[in-house]
Amino acid sequence: MARIVMKFGGTSMAGTERIRRVANIVRKQAEGGNEVAVVVSAMAGETDRLVNFCREANPLYDPAEYDAVVSSGEQVTSGLLALTLQAMGCKARSWLGWQVPIKTFSVHANARIDDFDASRLVEHMQAGEIAVIPGFQGLSEDGRISTMGRGGSDTSAVAIAAAVGADRCDIYTDVDGVYTTDPRIVARAQKQKYVTYEEMLELASVGAKVLQTRSVSLAMKRNVRVQVLSSFVDDDAPSADTLPGTMIVSEEEMDDILKEQKMERQTVTGIALDKNEARVVLTRVPDKPGAVAEIFLPLGEAGINVDMIIQNVGRDKGETDVTFTVPQAELARAQALLENLKEKIGYNRIITDANVAKVSVVGMGMKSHTGVAASMFKALADRGINVQAISTSEIKISVLIDADETELAVRVLHTAYGLDAKDEAA
Ligand code: ASP
Ligand code: MG
Repeated sequence: MARIVMKFGGTSMAGTERIRRVANIVRKQAEGGNEVAVVVSAMAGETDRLVNFCREANPLYDPAEYDAVVSSGEQVTSGLLALTLQAMGCKARSWLGWQVPIKTFSVHANARIDDFDASRLVEHMQAGEIAVIPGFQGLSEDGRISTMGRGGSDTSAVAIAAAVGADRCDIYTDVDGVYTTDPRIVARAQKQKYVTYEEMLELASVGAKVLQTRSVSLAMKRNVRVQVLSSFVDDDAPSADTLPGTMIVSEEEMDDILKEQKMERQTVTGIALDKNEARVVLTRVPDKPGAVAEIFLPLGEAGINVDMIIQNVGRDKGETDVTFTVPQAELARAQALLENLKEKIGYNRIITDANVAKVSVVGMGMKSHTGVAASMFKALADRGINVQAISTSEIKISVLIDADETELAVRVLHTAYGLDAKDEAA
């Protein structure tokens, strides 16, 4: 017997027919003798619809009221799943965020959860009742309903798994695991059996949309075993207990697995792409101490996230060009802000380009292998792909390129790092 948290995303919950499929998967886990809590998303598209209502009602909406509105999508699906399970003869009930209660802190619309007391939930689970919990919502410090940022149901699931001391947190989605890259771009992409928390964290933050980034850092911190797997499977598909998906594990566990299978760690395990960034160039910025702070401090204060930065070598006149990226959605705001500061910063021209993409290669093996960056630049150069900016971490290298060359770049790198499967994915 195990204690399991199962989480189902919006596409799996879209309509009563799909909810019935979900209920079937849940029922099997419960009938297998497991204690089960299920965390659900709103039906696909529902949260977007609710967010739009808020914008229409009041463009400067109060985040606490926004939370009251957008959390409702999950209230509906959790009740519907409990009803469906009951119709199948299972014992089940819904637990809204305030009933558990899932205590959150920090701001409305972007609340955080870490730990909370789940003893009532556990008592009911031990009595054989399936707990159905709406993801994305909690109870804020001011006693009102809160939500945890878009995609937050993943984080709800991990937090609940940690709080109830689950043996496993299964995240059911519309793909059957974490791939070496997007299989829609590279047919020879391979599903990974294991990925480390660190790698998943980097992959999530550079555009692999399988899990909310925050859920991965919470899983790493609280040591929650997370499996990513598909909810769109046939009745005779292998059960989740046989680990058919991708397991997210610690570095130590990964080392043990590799040792056991007498395998070497791959240098690169994943390639991610992100088309949501835009490039900004400020030309002829004074090359003196403090000049860069004049640019990035105001952007930071405006809540605009700057990712890649390059400052060119100064020219003879004591001037330099500064290039950086911001989220495309923030480009207009960043541009307006910088235009207002033109004199203060003292630059000559502002050039922006939204037709760019960030391609990243990620892998723990980079810690111990040299030449990973060099082979990336060579592979891209061989195909005439120009690199506009670079950023790195200990286990990641990202390059900014022309958006039209994204697919080509991803394919070339997938081959260059030896990630192509022998046979094409089915
Ligand atoms: N329904 C919320 C959203 O669409 C939370 C989630 O599904 O994870 O962002
Ligand atoms: Mg999601």
